[in-house]
Amino acid sequence: MVVTGLVGRATLPEAVGAPLGDCLYATLVALVVALVRPRTTPVVAAGVALAACAAIELSHLTGAPAPLIERFPLVRFVLGTTFGAPDLAWYALGAAVGGALLHLTVRATGRSPGQERLARGRRGRALVVLPLTFLVAAGGAVGWFMWTEANDLTAQVAVARSALDGSEGRVVDDRVRTTLAGTIDDARAVLAETPILARLPGDATRAREGLARAVAAVDRSRLEFALAAAGDARDELGPVVGRAEQVLAATEGLGAGESVRSALRAALESTRGEVAATAPERLDEAEVAEVERASASLAARRADLGRATTDLMTAQDAVTCPFPDQLWFPEAGTLDPADLAPIPWAPQHSVRADLIGGLEALNDAYRAHFGRDLPVNSGYRTYDEQVAVYNPADPNPLAAPPGCSNHGLGTAIDVSVGPEGFGSPRYVWLKANAEQFGWVHPDWAGPDGRLPEPWHWQSVETPVEY
Ligand SMILES: [Zn+2]
Repeated sequence: MVVTGLVGRATLPEAVGAPLGDCLYATLVALVVALVRPRTTPVVAAGVALAACAAIELSHLTGAPAPLIERFPLVRFVLGTTFGAPDLAWYALGAAVGGALLHLTVRATGRSPGQERLARGRRGRALVVLPLTFLVAAGGAVGWFMWTEANDLTAQVAVARSALDGSEGRVVDDRVRTTLAGTIDDARAVLAETPILARLPGDATRAREGLARAVAAVDRSRLEFALAAAGDARDELGPVVGRAEQVLAATEGLGAGESVRSALRAALESTRGEVAATAPERLDEAEVAEVERASASLAARRADLGRATTDLMTAQDAVTCPFPDQLWFPEAGTLDPADLAPIPWAPQHSVRADLIGGLEALNDAYRAHFGRDLPVNSGYRTYDEQVAVYNPADPNPLAAPPGCSNHGLGTAIDVSVGPEGFGSPRYVWLKANAEQFGWVHPDWAGPDGRLPEPWHWQSVETPVEY
């Protein structure tokens, strides 16, 4: 009965377990009274039980049991912990049940006075043996219950530990990990407590439930993080796929090796397959590990595709652009007009729209010094214009082959520096001042460069490698 009461309190919700425990406690007291004084009538036994329980309950109002319970935790099983008026009703019900049980027993075994005397000897032994048997059985059951729930808690701590370690840097909100770490510490403290004296039946179960909730919160946060990362990986893949398609289309028929083009086509194909396999509607149903694999796989496809694209550009550059300082770009000469801006004082020429501010600032400084605008006579050149100015038969071509000139990227201008060339005041001033506005004279066009061109100036934004 004690075991039923304790297990009931530990496993059932508080609202059911507590009244059940109170009830069984009063019933037990009534039975003990009948055992100690066999001739007590059922009504008296029930009355004594109710009176005893009520006295104990009321004693809490005086505050007297508190220090006693603190000193001897086991006493709480006999005295309870706090006063609660509804408890009195449950004691009354329990005492009544005890009285009824005693009444039924007397009715069932109704003995004569002679038999009663004979039975008294046995009853004396039973008075010792029965409570002892009862105590051993009850202790064993409580011990077994507490051992089982401690084992379950130990297993849950291991699960929680692995959830904590595996989620570092992979959750949306790191506070869920802090909470889990604290809950693990609490659970370990519960396991370290002495059973019965400090750790009561049910404590380990409650700690295990708290741990399971904290693990579930970390798992949810980790899934949310993984889904967001997979979404980012898809978004980042978009421009890389676009670039690969552009390079593949632009190199068509330009003489780059077919094996390099095939490799890029294969990388594109594999990337499209991975994008379809990791579509958001599929990942929404997936476990966290699968979502994390999807992110990693999308990132790997992005790296592969980027490499294959650069390989093809490098192969095309080797075929098209004869000099190391030239770089082939698929967009050279085919920029969207919306990405270009006319030069205000030389509107027949234009540069990339994001560079116009720096060029205007350079022109302001130039005009302050020379009293006139920077004499720009070339800027962005379309692919057809590059074809027109390029002469492959010329051993020292003044223009780069189409696709190799940074005029095609909208990042270069030609400035009329006058007949003195590198010795002209315009060149000398530009060399000393242009860089602070983001414009430079490249080494290949310098006095000792591959192609001395004092007029060619380019933005620092001009790409110099893939
Ligand atoms: Zn130029």
